[in-house]
Amino acid sequence: MAPGGSIFKEVLESHLLSSDYETGKAKSEAKSNSTLTKSTSVGLNGKNGTSSKNGVHDLLGCPVCKNLMYPPIHQCPNGHTLCSNCKIEVHNLCPTCHHDLGNIRCLALEKVAESLELPCRYQSLGCNDIFPYYAKLKHEQNCGFRPYNCPYAGSECSVMGDIPTLVAHLKDEHKVDMHDGFTFNHRYVKTNPHEVENATWMLTVFNCYGRYFCLHFEAFQLGTAPVFMAFLRFMGDDNEAKKFSYSLEVGANGRKLIWQGIPRTIRDSHSKVRDSQDGLIIQRNQALYFSGGDKQELKLRITGRIWKED
Ligand SMILES: [Zn+2]
Ligand SMILES: [Zn+2]
Ligand SMILES: [Zn+2]
Ligand SMILES: [Zn+2]
Repeated sequence: MAPGGSIFKEVLESHLLSSDYETGKAKSEAKSNSTLTKSTSVGLNGKNGTSSKNGVHDLLGCPVCKNLMYPPIHQCPNGHTLCSNCKIEVHNLCPTCHHDLGNIRCLALEKVAESLELPCRYQSLGCNDIFPYYAKLKHEQNCGFRPYNCPYAGSECSVMGDIPTLVAHLKDEHKVDMHDGFTFNHRYVKTNPHEVENATWMLTVFNCYGRYFCLHFEAFQLGTAPVFMAFLRFMGDDNEAKKFSYSLEVGANGRKLIWQGIPRTIRDSHSKVRDSQDGLIIQRNQALYFSGGDKQELKLRITGRIWKED
């Protein structure tokens, strides 16, 4: 029995965050993309050994987007280099001398890149691996030390970090409900549930088995049907997430809906999980029926449990 077993007795209420959720989400996703791009350029100037190496390293930085260049690396007839993405962006005109770029590869630079060995850009987060230049990017996309995006939905948040950092951030900045224990009993309330098109409630974070889980609850339009959805995300990588299962139950008046699933990693964005419908989905009319009363207020009690499979 985990220390938080008694939490089942508590009834927790969540607060509606925003009825303008779609807009907020789109913005926050755009923002986190730009953060990723930014950190790419940070990685470029990271600690990379000797200064002569830094010189070569600088040569491999695209002058336009500042990212490291990968084949095909292009150059203009005057020798100015740039990456293939930017070649399209600048409509084939050299951003330095405005000469037409043509279709000239910079094979020498591609070969130089091939000879380089570089540390993973998440070295400062604990990854000590060194990679040939062209293998580095592939590794970094799956590096176990790469930071996670803040799992909080419904806000414009571009914070990234490891799990302890994000847990502290969720507590301090988003004031989320934090609970110890592997069972929960959570009440979601909303007056005027008919007005809710895209809404999200306060995130709840559970700490059990030495890990952290995020319980999401929200309203959205599934096709033409207004629905509510609850699902769990795991604060860690997918291979760890798969070691857990969870169940959610909602109901009243002798009726009950039960969902059993596997928490999704927070590497999968909140909207990706929602769009894959990987969670407990409650039709609005059904939710109002479960709420009892005059259908003017949403009052859902969701109970659940997390357990470890082994
Ligand atoms: Zn570029
Ligand atoms: Zn040029
Ligand atoms: Zn790494
Ligand atoms: Zn955040």
